[in-house]
This record gives sequence, structure tokens and C-alpha cells, in this order.
Amino acid sequence: MAILNQLTSQQAIDLENKYGAHNYHPLPVVLSRGEGVFVWDIDGKQYYDFLSAYSAVNQGHCHPKIVNAMVQQAQTLTLTSRAFHNNMLGKYEKFACEFFGFDKLLPMNTGAEAVETALKLCRKWAYEVKGIDENEAEIIVCENNFHGRTTTIISFSNDPVARENFGPFTNGFLKIEYNNLEALENTLKNNPNVGGFLVEPIQGEAGVYVPSSGYLAKAKALCEQYNVLFIADEVQTGIARTGQLLAVNHENVTPDILILGKALSGGVYPVSAVLANNTVMDVIKPGNHGSTFGGNPVAAAVAIAALTVVKEEQLSDNAETLGKLFRSELNTYIKTSNIAKLVRGKGLLNAIVINDDEESDTAWNICLALRDNGLLAKPTHGNIIRFAPPLVINENQLLDCVRIIIKILKQFE
Ligand SMILES: *Cc1c(COP(=O)(O)O)cnc(C)c1O
Repeated sequence: MAILNQLTSQQAIDLENKYGAHNYHPLPVVLSRGEGVFVWDIDGKQYYDFLSAYSAVNQGHCHPKIVNAMVQQAQTLTLTSRAFHNNMLGKYEKFACEFFGFDKLLPMNTGAEAVETALKLCRKWAYEVKGIDENEAEIIVCENNFHGRTTTIISFSNDPVARENFGPFTNGFLKIEYNNLEALENTLKNNPNVGGFLVEPIQGEAGVYVPSSGYLAKAKALCEQYNVLFIADEVQTGIARTGQLLAVNHENVTPDILILGKALSGGVYPVSAVLANNTVMDVIKPGNHGSTFGGNPVAAAVAIAALTVVKEEQLSDNAETLGKLFRSELNTYIKTSNIAKLVRGKGLLNAIVINDDEESDTAWNICLALRDNGLLAKPTHGNIIRFAPPLVINENQLLDCVRIIIKILKQFE
């Protein structure tokens, strides 16, 4: 290991390029340590983390309470599989169900697995409760969605790069425009075999696309009217990111199926979950679904700690307050800017749109300049830069970051 500790950034990057599959295009920076809102590269340079591992690190890097919970549990019992009970799973399930207000939880590991679980659950409910004919169930999804990388999930993606040469795909999905209630209503009206509507309360990967106010509440009402499950993918928007515990809380919506991942563990361990009430979740019987690692004692201990931190440190309130400050500070600048078109978002899930076409490398170059000035962010869809710091950021730090961002934008005017 001594040799590994002495790597230069370039050597670390070269190793990944030579021995790792090229399934990502990372910003060239090699991180070796994190604490709170900060990360450090292997030369000791400090950065604000404005991506938070796609909102997995809402509680801040290496939060001591979460890491402690993990270490303690890892020294006690790590994995039993679900062939046996363990003393942590039920405790965690009760805690999370009460925390989010659902009857039952199904534990998985990654976000994509939780989305898959929700789709299977929805289909089974559609056949066994709603009474749809065998193999006829449909699920409505939105254009420009991002729900993960499995074959079924990319079957209803419209990102050509995510789909190319991965077919054949899974059937049974109807795609409608996001933020379009008329499209939802027409699709529900014309398709009696619909069992569910899968939606991101804010489309994160698409570029932090916030739907019109009232969209989620009205979509939920339409789902109720047509006896269709409203399935909220809160893997990125959930756990205080948008200024409420869940993004659907902004419109007082309770999903029929809630999908969580990412910050459910504070970014220390892969933990995901699907929550639903008994009328839905009870269609799942022994043998229908599972995961060797899902609901393991370490995941249970970590998730309880991660959610406790969210409440104790009032991260929703901080995200709400500092998100408003962030957008108002940037809006003031953008009024006079040619390079930044707009800033949008909710809570501390925000993005700026760069005034250049999607194929240009302007946003990428801005991110390189931000990196050189101690702030890490990454473009999504070419000309959009997402800004999502850990929710433990304080006002002075946020204003320091606004200063860095504006300074760099000015250099690109
Ligand atoms: C990240 C993400 C997923 C997939 O999560 P993984 O842990 O990467 O599988 C699913 N849905 C949304 C909205 C996400 O942002």
C-alpha cells in the first residue's frame, strides 16, 4: 500500500484509464480525503464539493456519527443475508417507516435496484389488486427521465448514449412529456392497463428541471382518479436536498411508492429502499424478490444514523434558507451576464444554464476553472452545471462559493 499512497494525480488517473472500464468521464481531480463540505486532492489542495456525489453526501463527507455507526456495526455483525433475521433490520424498518410515514419498507442497496423493485411492486399490484390482465400492465414514465442503469430502466430512457446497443429492451412503458398534466390525463384516459406513474419530483440528471408549481399535486390527484400508483423517485431529491425531507412535501403529496437511495446512507455505504403502505407492499410474498446485501445490519445502522443526522442538524431548513440565498445572489449577477442564462432549482439542488450550445465545451471549461479555484462541480447535458453542496454548508461558506462561481463566470463573459 505504501506505493499507492505516493501516487501523483496523473498516475492515479492513468491507472483508472488503463485498468478501469471507461464508463465515466470524470473531471481531472483525484480526491483522497473528505470532511463536511470539503474534499482534498492527493496534493492536499482543498475544494468545496458542489456535487456531493450526486446528492449522496447530503450530511457532509465522513460525518462522524454515521461513520461511527458503520464502524461499530461492522465490528459486530455485517451480513446475515435474509435467510436469517438480524437484530438491526426491524429496528431500521420501523425507524424509516415512521420517519417517512409509510407502513412498510423493502430494503435494497443501490438506487437502480430500488427503482427496479418499485416497478416490480407496481406491476404485481396492478395484476393482483387492480385486476389488469396478465402481462398487460403499463407504467407511465417521463421524457428525459433518469432512474438508473439497468436494462429495464434504460428501456424507457431517451438518452441515446445510455441505450445504444443495449437492446432488446423491456416493454410495458408509456413515455409522456414531463410537467405536462394534459399528457398525463390523456394517457391515463386512453390506457386502462396503466398501473403506475413513475416520476422524479425534480429531474436532476436532466439538468435540475423543476416542474410548474402544482404539477406533482395534480398528477397525484389524476393517479388517484384512475386508480394508478404515484411512484416518486426521490433518490436524488429526497433526504432534505430540496429544502423539505422529500421534494413531494413541497406540494403535500404522499406517493403510493417512495424510492430512496443516495443520501439514505449519507454517502458512506450503498443503501436504498422502497416504501409503501400495506395495500401495496403486501403483494410481495417470500421468494418474489430479494437481495443478498439488502437490509444488512451495517446498512441498517448507517441509515438510522444518516436520517438522525438529517433531523438533528435540521438539514431541510438549512437547504431551504441557503438555497434561496444562492439563487438570489446568482440571479443578481445573471441579470447582467451573457455567459449564464439562468439559475434554477429548489433548496440546495440548483443548476445554471450556460449560454452556449449543448455540444460546446464552455461548461466543462468553467468547471475546470472552478476546480482551479477550489470548487468542484460537473456539467450535466453539456451546457448545464449542477450545484449541490453538502447540506451542512453554512452561510459564510456558501457566500464564499458564490464569490468563486461569479469570479469564474466573469472570466468567461
Ligand atoms: C442516481 C439516481 C438513480 C440511480 O441510483 P444508483 O445508486 O446510481 O443506481 C435513480 N434515480 C435517480 C433520480 C437518481 O438520481
